[in-house]
Amino acid sequence: MTHQTVIVGAGHGAGQVVASLKQKGYSGHITLIGDEPHLPYQRPPLSKKFLAGELPAERLLFKPPAFYEDVTVHLGQRVERIDRDAKTVTTGNGETIAWDTLVLATGSRVRKLSCDGVELDGIHYLRDIADVDAIRGDMPDGARVAIVGAGYIGLEVAAVARSLGHSVTVLEMADRVMSRVVSPDISAFFDRLHRDRGVDLRLMTGLVAFRGDGGRVTGIETNSGEIADADVVVVGIGIQPNDELAADAGLDVDDGILVDDHCRSSDPAVFAIGDCTRHPNGVYGTNLRLESVQNALEQAKTAADNIAGGDTSYSQVPWFWSDQYEFKLQIAGLSTGYDDVVLRGSPDEGSFSCVYLRDGRFIAIDCINAPKDFMQSKAVIAGTPRIAKETLADTNLSFKEIQATLD
Ligand code: FAD
Repeated sequence: MTHQTVIVGAGHGAGQVVASLKQKGYSGHITLIGDEPHLPYQRPPLSKKFLAGELPAERLLFKPPAFYEDVTVHLGQRVERIDRDAKTVTTGNGETIAWDTLVLATGSRVRKLSCDGVELDGIHYLRDIADVDAIRGDMPDGARVAIVGAGYIGLEVAAVARSLGHSVTVLEMADRVMSRVVSPDISAFFDRLHRDRGVDLRLMTGLVAFRGDGGRVTGIETNSGEIADADVVVVGIGIQPNDELAADAGLDVDDGILVDDHCRSSDPAVFAIGDCTRHPNGVYGTNLRLESVQNALEQAKTAADNIAGGDTSYSQVPWFWSDQYEFKLQIAGLSTGYDDVVLRGSPDEGSFSCVYLRDGRFIAIDCINAPKDFMQSKAVIAGTPRIAKETLADTNLSFKEIQATLD
């Protein structure tokens, strides 16, 4: 009997599982089941070039349709249930599909607001192609766009909306932008950037309710008693993992499907990858739930290799990026728990990095238009070495050169 691998979720990670299984010469059969009507596609451009109308939908695809010719693909179908004893999944239309190996690649979904007015037309979230189509269709020229949340997604949407000539208000509860992921120096840089480009950025401002007229949103009432006028609203307040299917099947789940370094869940026949997982990270010695393309792709490669008979562990320095106007923020490592920051270069020159230290060890870096720092520092961070602050601050020394002094 041919070995059957069934992949639930047809997103970025799932596409990579298919690609890596093929590359590894997997001799079994692959079935891909996704609830969106699309083949696996890349989400990062959704809040960047695709929202800006600079990229057609076909260019989002992870691989062209022909790539999946030898794969059984079910699109627009949701897996409702996993039976681990019978080794089957059941889809929303009642079809039961058998597997020998199951891969859960169910990703994450947006957190939603609950307050008065959430049902009004004109209030959007951004996770998939359909969301962007809806936002674009709802933004007439010169629209007043209000964005809830100054995280990556909110600020990327703000940058695109300003570039398209809309007026933009951003409401953020915290006292600085992207506070969850970057240091005050980086927040200050993007704060100034957005204000310089005309964004009405309101920090320490919470949303109380949406105001509307005739069933459509007209503004946001804030906790300071002000109204932010809006023709259209985009909410970006974070995501949560799609781990309920796994939990219902009795797999171990804790804010993400728990997997080991081989991407195996608590059932060795079931792998899980990407946004929906929580995994052990060897570099930091902690369990992480990451929301990034790198994590989805690398876990996909690891799972595929192990399904195809390999013995591969996943342990990497996490990295991430965000594009806002002509600036690229690239993050390597996790700065959580840092106790010192070294500035490398000058924010005034529009190209600099913030190096994060914990107990004197180099644990992470945020780079703004400094791709060389980003590329070269990843290998250095992997060893979390102790490096003198003067050395880290010296832009005449590349990270390759700094690394050489450590070897
Ligand atoms: P996804 O790509 O989310 O795919 C999961 C798929 O499974 C979805 O299609 C979902 O609908 C489907 N699914 C869920 N449950 C079921 C079910 N029961 N049955 C069938 N199908 C199901 N990351 C970066 O690194 N850099 C960026 O700049 C960046 N920008 C982003 C911008 C936006 C607007 C968004 C939304 C995300 C961005 N990300 C970025 C995050 C990145 O896209 C995700 O980390 C990545 O897509 C995760 O891949 P995944 O395969 O785990 O999940």
